[in-house]
Amino acid sequence: MKPFRALSLFLLLFVAIRPAECQQAAPAAPPQASTTSAVWNALAQPAMDPSHAATVKDLTLQRDRLKLTLAEGTLQFLQPVNGVVFGAAFRGKGRLEVTPPDPREAQQLRLFTKQDTLNLEFTEATITFTDHTFEEIAAKVQWGAVADSSLGELYIDRQRYREDAAAEILPRVLKGVFSADRRRTAYFATDLKTAEYGWLHARFDALSPEEISVGRWRDFGPRKEVEVWTSFPAGGRSAASAWNDPTGKDDFDIRSYKIDATATSGAELSATARVHLQHKASGERLLLFLLDSNLRVESVKDGQGTALEFFQPRESKDRPQSYGDYVAVVLPQPTQAGQAQSLDFHYAGKRIIRKVGTGAYFAQSFGWYPTKADSFATRADFEINFRSPKRYALVATGSKVDETTDGDWRISSWKSHIPLAVAGFAFGDFKFQAEKAGTVDIHIYANREPDDFMKSIRNQIDGSLPGEDTFGRPSVGSLSPAALTKTMAIELANTVRVFEKYFGPYPYKQLALTNIPYSYGQGWPGLIYLSALSFMDSTQRNAFGIRDHVQLTDFFRAHESSHQWWGHRVGWKSYHDQWLSEGFAEFSGNLYVQIRQNNKEFLDRLRKDRENLQGMRDQKNRLMESLGPIWMGQRLSTLDAPGAYSFLVYTKGGYVLHMIRMMMWDSRNPADPEARFIAMMHDFTKTFDNKPASTEDFKAIVEKHMTPVMDVHGNRRMDWFFNQYVYGTGIPQYDFRYQVQDAGGGKWKVSGTATRTGVPDNWIDILPLYIHQPKGAVRLGFLTTDKSTTTFELPLLNFKPEKLSLNANEDILAEIKQ
Ligand SMILES: [Zn+2]
Repeated sequence: MKPFRALSLFLLLFVAIRPAECQQAAPAAPPQASTTSAVWNALAQPAMDPSHAATVKDLTLQRDRLKLTLAEGTLQFLQPVNGVVFGAAFRGKGRLEVTPPDPREAQQLRLFTKQDTLNLEFTEATITFTDHTFEEIAAKVQWGAVADSSLGELYIDRQRYREDAAAEILPRVLKGVFSADRRRTAYFATDLKTAEYGWLHARFDALSPEEISVGRWRDFGPRKEVEVWTSFPAGGRSAASAWNDPTGKDDFDIRSYKIDATATSGAELSATARVHLQHKASGERLLLFLLDSNLRVESVKDGQGTALEFFQPRESKDRPQSYGDYVAVVLPQPTQAGQAQSLDFHYAGKRIIRKVGTGAYFAQSFGWYPTKADSFATRADFEINFRSPKRYALVATGSKVDETTDGDWRISSWKSHIPLAVAGFAFGDFKFQAEKAGTVDIHIYANREPDDFMKSIRNQIDGSLPGEDTFGRPSVGSLSPAALTKTMAIELANTVRVFEKYFGPYPYKQLALTNIPYSYGQGWPGLIYLSALSFMDSTQRNAFGIRDHVQLTDFFRAHESSHQWWGHRVGWKSYHDQWLSEGFAEFSGNLYVQIRQNNKEFLDRLRKDRENLQGMRDQKNRLMESLGPIWMGQRLSTLDAPGAYSFLVYTKGGYVLHMIRMMMWDSRNPADPEARFIAMMHDFTKTFDNKPASTEDFKAIVEKHMTPVMDVHGNRRMDWFFNQYVYGTGIPQYDFRYQVQDAGGGKWKVSGTATRTGVPDNWIDILPLYIHQPKGAVRLGFLTTDKSTTTFELPLLNFKPEKLSLNANEDILAEIKQ
C-alpha cells in the first residue's frame, strides 16, 4: 500500500503564501466606505494612471540578490490610492538575474533551470509593491510615454491568475500600505513572462524569514502554484539563523483561544472565537489571520465590542483550490508593541464538517478557527465549548472538563492543560473504549456504522451470495470500525509505552483515537485521526487483497501516535526542519515494528526503504534521492516529482535517525545497548518540551551525546554526518573484500578493503564491521572510511571467524556488495 504512506499526511502545511481576492471583496463593517475599503477596492480593481507612463531603458531594480533590469520598453503605473502607488506593468525587453547564496540553493536552481546563476529574459512583467519602487523609478524616468491600455489588461490578467492560485497578495499589499513602518513590511513581487518557462514569480518580502523567493507558476492538476526554484534569506543571513526565532518577524503572538462552537447533524459549524494576542510590532493597522474561506465571517469585534472592518476572499465552495484563506482585520488604531488585545471572530459555514455516512462525520481540523499561518512553531492555550447533537459523542483536543445536555444538544467543555499548536475535534455515532497506558488515558471513538469510504471499498468486492463475495472469498462482514475498539485501545496503549521509554513522557493527559474516511492519518495533540482501513481486521484486509499488514496496523498506528512527540511535544521551526516530525515518526513506526513484531520484519522494512531510495525515479527519470536534501522539505515536491517530499522526508529522514541510533548502539553493554541513544532522545524532548526545534538544534543534542567514534574530526561536531545525509544527497556503495589467514599457533589474521563508489571522494562514513558466529552477528567495531578505498587489519583472533560483513543491521544508508 504505497499510496497509503505517501498520503500519510501529518498535517497540511500551508507553506505557500496563498493569494488573493478581487472582484467580490467581502462586505466591510462598519458599512460606510472608509479609507481602508477604498484602498481595498482600488487594489481589487486596479486602474492605470496615464500620467505615469514612461519609456524606459536599462532601468535596474535590485532587491538583495534579486536583480530586475528593464532593458527597453514601456512601463506604466497604477493609479495611487491614499497617496500610495502599489503596482506597475511593463512590456518590452527585460532580464531577471539571481545569484544563489550557497551551494544548496545553487543545486536547486540547476535542477530547474540548468543555470548556476539565474539569468532569463522576459517580455512582459507586472510589479506589485509597498516599498520605495515608485519613488526609485520616478527619479530615473521622464513621464510621458503614450499610455498603453493593454498594459492595464496585462496587470488585471495577472491579478486574476494570482487570485485563482490563492496567492494572497492583495491582503499583503493592503498590510504594507497601511503600515507605519514601510521598511519592516516592505513587499516587492513580480510576475515575469519568459519564452522558456512561461510566467515566473519573484519576490522580496521583508516579513518572511526567507525574503527572496523565485519560481515558476505551474498547474499542479487543478491547482496553480509557484514551483519554487530558490528561496533564501536576504542580507547574507544563513537559513538557520533566519529561522532561529521562527516568529521573530510576526506582528503578534496568539496567547490563547476561547472558542464557543456549534456543530450540527447537518454538518454546519458556527463559532465565536475569542483570540487573545500580544502585539510585537508597533504601527500596524492590518492583522492577517488564516481561516478556511468556507467559513464566512459575520463580525470581528475588539475587546470593547466595537465592530472592526475586515476582508475575506471569495468563498471557494467545492473548487479544488480556494481563492485564499485569510481574514484581514483592520484596527482603528495602530498597534503598540507589547500591548495585549482580544478579538472576537464570529463565523459560520459548511464544508468544514462533512457528513460521511450514517452517524459519521469528518471534521477538518485545520482552518476552523483563526490562526497565524505558522501555528506549528507556536503554542496557545485553548478553552473550547461545543454544542453538538445529543445523540452523538464529541471528542476534542484537551481534557473534557464538563459535559451537560440542553434539549437535543450536548454541551461539552475542553481545556488544554499545556499550550497546544492546534486544536481539533471529531463527533459522530461512536462506540467508546477506554484503556490505560500508565497514567495516560487511552480513548477510542469508533463509528458504529461503516462510513462511505469503507462502503465504497466493500462495494468494489462484495458479491451477491450470502457469506462470500464474487470471488468466493469469505464475506468481510459488517466492516464496522466499532468492532475493533478493544484491539485499537490495547495497541495504541502499547505504542505510548514504547515511546515513553524511548522518547520521554507522553505530553498530555489522554490520547483519543478516531477513524476517518480517508487512507491517511493525522495526529493532533492528544487526538489521532486514523484511516478507517486500519480499523479492519485481518480477514477483512485479506479480503481486500491488502497484504502489507504491518504498514496498515502496527507501523501506521505507531507513526501517528509518535507525532504526539514529533510535531507536538517537539515542534519544528521551519519547513526545513519538518523531517524532525515526519522522519522521526517514520523512525518511530519502524522502531515499534521491531519491538511489536520482530527484528527480521524491521530489517526488511529498512532494506526496502534503502532500495526505494536507490531506485525511485521522478517523471524525468532522475533519481528522487538526488533531487535535494531532506532539509529542503516541501520544496522537494515538484510537478516532475510530486511525491518527493513525502517519499524523501519520511523515508530518508527516518533512516537518518536510525543511523544515529546504530552509531550510538553500545555492543559492549548487551544489557542496555541503547542507553546513550535513549538518553539523547529524552534530552531532546526535554530541552524542546512544547517548543519548536530546528535541524541545528537537534544536531547540537546529537553532538552532546556523541560517542568517540562519531567524533570523526575530533572537534565534537557532527557536521560531517549532517552535511552528507541531512543537508546533502548521495548514497554510497561499498565493495567489501576480506581474507582470513591462519597465522599459526591457533591465531587467525583478518584483513580487507572497502572500496566506495557513488559519492564524492571526501565522503566519510563510520562503517560497522560484524563478525558472524553460530550465535549471530556481533559488531566488532567501525571502519572510518574517509577516502574511496579503506584497508583494515584486525588484531589476531584466537578463532576462525565464520564470516565478516559490513552493515549487518542496515546500520548505515549504504549498499554493501561482498
Ligand atoms: Zn506523519
